[in-house]
Amino acid sequence: MTLAELAAAPGRASELALADEVGDDRSARERLLRTMRERLREMRASIERGLATDAPSRTGMVGWNAKRLWKADDVLGAALLRRVQAYAMAVNEENARMGRIVAAPTAGSAGTLPGALLGVADHLGLDDDALVMPLVLAAAVGDAIQAKMFIAGSTGGCQAEIGASAAMAAAAVTELLGGSAHACVHAATMALMNTIGLVCDPVGGYVEVPCVSRNAFYSVHAVSSAQLALAGLESVIPPDEVVQAMASVGRLLPPELRETGEGGIAATETGRRIALKMAR
Ligand code: SF4
Repeated sequence: MTLAELAAAPGRASELALADEVGDDRSARERLLRTMRERLREMRASIERGLATDAPSRTGMVGWNAKRLWKADDVLGAALLRRVQAYAMAVNEENARMGRIVAAPTAGSAGTLPGALLGVADHLGLDDDALVMPLVLAAAVGDAIQAKMFIAGSTGGCQAEIGASAAMAAAAVTELLGGSAHACVHAATMALMNTIGLVCDPVGGYVEVPCVSRNAFYSVHAVSSAQLALAGLESVIPPDEVVQAMASVGRLLPPELRETGEGGIAATETGRRIALKMAR
């Protein structure tokens, strides 16, 4: 199903996505919803583990950031912002420790969706039951993007991973907050459009730096996109054309900026020194 088809849903976008997936097979519907509940439980468990520990990853580059932020004073009076960022980093630091996470859509971008969706829900005191259908929609948005481009840093740069996750998260948060199908898809589109060009440059090839903090930043980006869409703002460029634009930028990216650890942050003097040390 394309993003344009999702946007044209007469009711909730998630209902159309679910119907597209299972038709009128009631047992398939129940199975899929059960799977989504399980995914939510796993996401929450990885957040809780990540917030509670400061055990370092194998490289020692990350592991304590989520807990430190979570325990820090809310000096900006921005509790939602801090919660969303801490949740996102908690998941990706779990990933860096080889802990159990839900790829959404990839392991490197696994924190953005739960950071935004569970972060907003917890901030507003919403029950996890309210998150099941938004998660169905997030999956449909990921599918629609995946149909037009490779979702991997090695093929499309970080825009392909984090961009897709931010789009999924933006749509899910918009639906959670009562947005129309049109608003959900435009939230996803704005999130995607404003991620174009993001390169994949992990230090030493480890999914840690800049990946962990990147999930924190783009989970907030997803919430911002939802806020714009819920206020009635929309993308001038149609959703599926934005996906195509991102795919074409991905093809233009040189190999150094596609997960080889040879460009960007990875190619800094310190990045190279860390990579060398880890290789010994
Ligand atoms: S920088 Fe590369 S490895 Fe890290 S999250 Fe982005 S795409 Fe994944």
